[in-house]
Amino acid sequence: MTMQKFKTLLPVFVALAIFIVAQIYVVRQVWLQKDEVFALRYRSVSKEAIQEMAAYDPYNGFKKAYYIIDDISQLYIQKSRALVKSEDSALFAQDIRENFTKILVEDQLLSEYLSKYFEKLGLEKKIKPLIYVNYIDLIDIQENIRVYKAPLSELKKQQSDQSILVYTFKSEGNNYIISFDYYIDIANKEKIIFRELSLTLLLSILSFVIISAIYIATMKSYLEEKRLSSLKTDFINNMTHELKTPLSTITVAGKTLKHESVIDDKKKIIETANLIGKQSVHLNELINLILEISMWERTQFQLDKKKISVEELIKDISDNFKNGCGKECNFNEEYNLNGAIADVDILYFTTMINNLLNNAIKYSKNTPEVKLEAYTEDDDIIIKVEDKGIGISRSEQKNIFDKFYRVSTGNIHQSKGLGLGLYYVKKIAEAHGGSVGVSSKKGKGSVFIVSIPKTI
Ligand code: ADP
Repeated sequence: MTMQKFKTLLPVFVALAIFIVAQIYVVRQVWLQKDEVFALRYRSVSKEAIQEMAAYDPYNGFKKAYYIIDDISQLYIQKSRALVKSEDSALFAQDIRENFTKILVEDQLLSEYLSKYFEKLGLEKKIKPLIYVNYIDLIDIQENIRVYKAPLSELKKQQSDQSILVYTFKSEGNNYIISFDYYIDIANKEKIIFRELSLTLLLSILSFVIISAIYIATMKSYLEEKRLSSLKTDFINNMTHELKTPLSTITVAGKTLKHESVIDDKKKIIETANLIGKQSVHLNELINLILEISMWERTQFQLDKKKISVEELIKDISDNFKNGCGKECNFNEEYNLNGAIADVDILYFTTMINNLLNNAIKYSKNTPEVKLEAYTEDDDIIIKVEDKGIGISRSEQKNIFDKFYRVSTGNIHQSKGLGLGLYYVKKIAEAHGGSVGVSSKKGKGSVFIVSIPKTI
């Protein structure tokens, strides 16, 4: 990508980047909202279930767990009396917390009940209970001791991020008081939210695709406009140069004719008149070419097709070409058409082949080596014009058939031309129901291949 193109496209990239960021932000916000609604739904349904359960089980399924806790609390109280060092007390408290948590998770029926309740309502039934102990008081008749007061640990933060806090239970037995948070993890939570979010995601992707497509289409047509406008400027420069050359020759010739030494020299007058005539013809040709181009633009151009033997026509064209080319070029030809006939407009077809042959000469250094080949292939007639000239780089090859396009050499006067020759070739080949292609290597030469359908 050139710097110029990059500069033009930069605002588009920036706008698209902003759009993507905005979309990500919106989707993320919707996700967070859905996540919150999801938690709220499960929390309120769980509370309903707990209330329902409490109607026949005041322990909410924790009865067995509380019995076990009460029992082992007694053991812990005895152990606690033997504690001396503060490190031991910390380890002791940790041990109680872990043990009690395990009992509360394993010896309860609430989770199973909730799972069934969810299933009944068509919600996800796969849940995992998580218990976080807030504090444990062991009731020692002699000295009521608080064994464990939970700090707000990393664990709790993690739990509250991913899991849903359902309820904070508190229970008091003979030997203990405990408060704990009951959380649940819903299996497939992400999947469920993702499914609910799919429409938002889809819309956001769709809007991105549509906006990108509109941007790209607009940019493409803008760049194409720019390219055409610069091609037109080049064309005007070239055309001015092309028109100026014969004009200045005519002007000089006109002055020469007035010169005293020439007035009496009949030979010189005829020579100069011939020169003026030749240049006028050239001027006329150029003007006709431009007029014709503008006519092609306005109307679908009409061919006057006739069934003809292509070999004969090509031979005529090449004979004329050889005469014009003289000894200055090395010209080879090879025909294998077996009398193939095609529907051809003689005038346009001749222009097409001449344009290719002229280019082969024009874009060759030293003595041009040109080969004209024509043969049949399936239902087509193939005409190849090959040269060993300057060649065309791969990146330029796709442009050379465009109107006004000329391979830039940095010096527009290096070889004469208006950038219309190959444009004509393409239009004419297509108007005959055919096509034209090029295969070329810079510095090595080019082959132009025209293919048109044969009639017989
Ligand atoms: P023009 O010859 O007036 O520039 P054309 O449409 O005939 O316009 O050709 C377009 C461009 O393609 C030319 O400017 C030239 O750079 C390149 N080109 C055409 N034919 C050849 C060839 N045989 N070898 C190398 N380059 C070619």
